[in-house]
Order: sequence, then structure tokens, then C-alpha cells
Amino acid sequence: NKRVIFKDYVTGYPKEEDMILTSATVPSKVPQGSTAVLLKNLYLSCDPYMRGRMSKPINHSYTDAFTPGSVIIGYGVSKVVDSGHPDFSPGDLVWGITGWEEYTLVTAPKGLTKIKYTDVPLSYYTGILGMPGLTAYVGFHEICSPKKGETVYVSAASGAVGQLVGQFAKLMGCYVVGSAGTKEKVGLLKTKFGFDDAFNYKEEEDLDAALKRCFPDGIDIYFENVGGKMLDAVLLNMRVHGRIAVCGLISQYNLTQREGIYNMTAIVTKRIKMQGFIEPDHKNLYPQFLEAVIQYIRDGKVVYVEDIAEGIEKAPSALIGLFTGRNVGKQVVLLGCD
Ligand code: NDP
Repeated sequence: NKRVIFKDYVTGYPKEEDMILTSATVPSKVPQGSTAVLLKNLYLSCDPYMRGRMSKPINHSYTDAFTPGSVIIGYGVSKVVDSGHPDFSPGDLVWGITGWEEYTLVTAPKGLTKIKYTDVPLSYYTGILGMPGLTAYVGFHEICSPKKGETVYVSAASGAVGQLVGQFAKLMGCYVVGSAGTKEKVGLLKTKFGFDDAFNYKEEEDLDAALKRCFPDGIDIYFENVGGKMLDAVLLNMRVHGRIAVCGLISQYNLTQREGIYNMTAIVTKRIKMQGFIEPDHKNLYPQFLEAVIQYIRDGKVVYVEDIAEGIEKAPSALIGLFTGRNVGKQVVLLGCD
């Protein structure tokens, strides 16, 4: 049972050496009389929030820190090999919280959901039909209160969450612009995901000018994935009564000294509503979200791009690649097929 161990708390950018590949034996059955579930992991998900779990514990985080010396924990797609739990049987496919290892013994399987639809790639349950998908869905529909014809800006727009926000906004009849960090990603936004316009933020000397070029009449909705300088420039370009959904601030996660925001006055003068949100608070919407999005996929109304690394050995580099923009689309690690 190959596994990835979290070495020790991280400061600054995470490195591959912060995670160690080892192996350990796993039982072939769940302990008799227990309600545990034994999983064969098929896909592991790399998600930016995992960086927060690599830092020393702080009291205002909504996730616990990883334990040094323990296996890394994250979302994945797995097959049940053995079960003492009444809700799960051998052969079931599930998605949810598992270990970064080939087999995981889950003692309390409350973080697992049985997979209902298998006519789509199973890896989708780490992305479009999993946590990032629900994040995009509730963040856009519930937090942004979008209306047809409004202007929408999405940062980190080609990623796991961003590519969906842009497509949901197009389905609502909004005008959508995204930014991303390479020419290839900008191309995807315009040709694959149907954004009305897109730009490479790394090539823009003046973000304020880039936003003015794309939104001459201002931005109604900003879906915030990056923070820092981008948020500051966006504040200057919001329209009166605009909404900002703060999903994440990836540009800040690895900085020891976080960047300041200088244009907060705009919140008052333009009466902007800015709201942070986290996906776990909205799990109750999962059934509604799943039915809506599976239909979009089947009808070809929404597409999804994934970046699949093969083998557990690649998991550490895949995870750290999120923070340099190496991933093109949702970053997944394939361990084995069903
Ligand atoms: P992505 O698939 O978008 O991967 C991360 C991307 O972020 C990279 O590919 C890179 O793209 C971009 N990025 C990395 N560093 C920087 C930087 N310094 N400045 C600007 N962009 C950067 O990740 P997700 O879609 O999974 O996550 C997007 C955001 O949503 C993150 O902030 C994440 O924390 C947040 N999130 C929040 C949730 C919630 O419940 N609130 C749940 C899930 C995600 P590029 O090449 O374009 O720079």
C-alpha cells in the first residue's frame, strides 16, 4: 500500500520534499464488528485549500492542519472493497474524504457519498460533480445573485472552479470575462468554455487598464479566486451595487507577508456586497446541484477540462503545481481504474 506522508508544517511555497512516499500494510478486511469501510482509491484530488492544512494550526481556519508523520487526507474517488457499515457494500463507488494511499481504512465513513451516476468519467466526482463543482454552483448562484445581461469577471478562470463559474454565467445570459496565467489557458477560456473575452494577467502591466479594456461599463459580479493585486484592481472597476463572491485567495496562500488591499473605499462608495463562503456550508444543495449539472453534461451545455497525473508518485508534484499554475484544468491523480 503506497502512501504519501505529510512531513512537517510548511512556511512559504510547498515543495515535493514536504511529502514523502512510503508504503505500509493495510488489512484486507475491516475489523470484525466495526462500522469501518475499506476503500481502493481510484482518483485523488489536488485542491488549493490543502495548502492551508500544511501550515501550523491556527484558530481561525475552517479545516484542521495535517498531522506531521501522517498520511495526507483529501478528496478522492474510491471503490468499496469491504464494509462493516450498513450504508456501504463491496463494489460500491464513492467519492469524498480519503487518504493519499492506494487503500484506505475509513473508520467513520460520514465523509463519503455513494456515486449515483456512472455514465460520466468517475474523475468528475473530484471536480465538476464534486467539491469544486458545488463551490462554483453555490458561489455563483447563491452568493452572486446573478441576473441576465450582467457583466461577470472570473479570476483563475481556467481552473477546477473557474471554468464552471464562467460556463454557469454564460448559461444565465451574462457577459463573461476570465483571466488566467498562460496563453494556452486564455485560449481555452475563449474557445472551449465560451467566455466572451479573456486575458493573461501575467502579461498585463496594469491590471486596472486591462479590466477597463474588458469592462468599459464596469463589473457587476466578480468571482474572486486569487486576491491581492487583482482584487485591488477589481474594486476600482466594480459597478454600483456590484457583488463580489470571495471563493479563495490563492495568490496569498504561500506568502509569509500578505499583500494589502488599498481600494476598500470602493465598497462604500459603490455599495458593493462582498461575501466569503465555503462549500461545506452548502452541502444541502448537493442533490439539486447534481441533477442540474449532470443534465448540463449530458446535453453538452457544460464541458470540463481535467489535468490527470498518473500514479501516486506524481501526487506531491501535482499538488504543488497548483501554486505555480502548472495545472491546466482540474488537477487529478489517477491511481487505478475501477
Ligand atoms: P485551480 O484549478 O484554479 O488551480 C489553481 C490555479 O490558481 C492555478 O492553476 C493558477 O492558474 C492560479 N494561481 C496560482 N497561483 C496564483 C497567483 N499567485 N495569482 C493568480 N493565480 C494563481 O484551483 P481551484 O479551481 O480548485 O480553486 C480556485 C480557488 O477557489 C482557490 O482560491 C481555492 O482556494 C478556492 N476554493 C474555495 C472553496 C470554498 O469553499 N470557498 C472550495 C474550492 C476552491 P493561472 O495559470 O491562471 O495563474
